[in-house]
Amino acid sequence: MRMFHDQLGGQRSSREYPFLSEGDFPPERDVSGQPARVGVFVCRCRPAIEGVVDVERLLAHAGEYPHVVYTADVGYGCFPEGLAAIKEAIADHDLNRVVVAGCSHRTHESLFQRTVREAGLNAYLVEMANIREHCAWVHPHEPEKATRKAIELVRMAVARASTLQPVHKSAVQLMRRALIIGGGVSGMTAALAIADAGFDVALVERSDALGGHLHNIHYVVEGYNPQRLLRDLVNRVRGHERIDVYTHTEVVEHTGYVGGYRAILRRRDGSEETISHGVTIVATGGQEARGTRYLLGQHPKVITQLELEEPLPIAWMRSLN
Ligand SMILES: Cc1cc2nc3c(=O)[nH]c(=O)nc-3n(C[C@H](O)[C@H](O)[C@H](O)COP(=O)(O)OP(=O)(O)OC[C@H]3O[C@@H](n4cnc5c(N)ncnc54)[C@H](O)[C@@H]3O)c2cc1C
Repeated sequence: MRMFHDQLGGQRSSREYPFLSEGDFPPERDVSGQPARVGVFVCRCRPAIEGVVDVERLLAHAGEYPHVVYTADVGYGCFPEGLAAIKEAIADHDLNRVVVAGCSHRTHESLFQRTVREAGLNAYLVEMANIREHCAWVHPHEPEKATRKAIELVRMAVARASTLQPVHKSAVQLMRRALIIGGGVSGMTAALAIADAGFDVALVERSDALGGHLHNIHYVVEGYNPQRLLRDLVNRVRGHERIDVYTHTEVVEHTGYVGGYRAILRRRDGSEETISHGVTIVATGGQEARGTRYLLGQHPKVITQLELEEPLPIAWMRSLN
């Protein structure tokens, strides 16, 4: 299994450049050491943006920000004409950073990343300001304030864009083991699902036994026996060839990145073991709230549900179901 990991340590969506590889793009321009030359492209998205936000005022402000050497009204930035205008401007004005003021990066960032990459820039030298959802759509009756907000969003996007650095991806091998911290029902269930899918699992439990809170649950509304579930889960986990169970153990160090982590496990006797793993699941559960309200701990007749369950006769509980 392979995953993409960029050199800055962040993870990026696999939706980027769908069906395209680096070979489909022109050589990347080396912009290292060059002063930022930012182009700001504002969408009108008629009537969504221009019906509320004063696009001319926005463009006038954008032209005054440091590093901005070019501004343009691109109508619909995501249309072929808009994308072509952005690429042309990058070439004509030697732009090395791009700001698109339009809609949401969630829907359109990959499109603009691809566009700047097609123009010879690294795909991560583009920044978006969402003046549609964040301004026009949420403040339709306050155009003045929406415009001021759009001006601020673009100002911030320009500031961010001028510090952007190229990011290059590389393929790394995934470590085919999961570390699961906590051996309660959640940790055990996750361990079985992962192990059954063909991956190794290190299941770390700090107490002396698997099961967690389930040890204290004797009755459930549905009527089945939670203790039988517990026994079944523990047996399946203990017997699974892909699951290593570490009881009396805690994780004392955890480093790395998605796909390639390293953890140090310390047993109660002080001995340590280092393991490598590709993912980590934290399933450390919770604790029953106690406190002192309602005379809990102060009056013998005030108890918690767990304390109530313990002495209840099973036959009586079953009769309720
Ligand atoms: C009062 C009460 C009543 C409930 N009644 C019901 C019910 O009727 N029906 C129902 O379906 N559910 C019920 N539940 C919920 C059910 O018990 C829990 O949802 C379930 O047991 C939680 O499982 P878990 O694995 O997420 O957490 P837990 O069971 O809490 O397991 C977490 C495990 O992680 C371990 N751990 C914690 N920290 C670390 C660490 N740093 N390193 C290593 N190990 C660690 C703990 O020792 C523990 O074994 C009840 C819960 C409570 C509290």
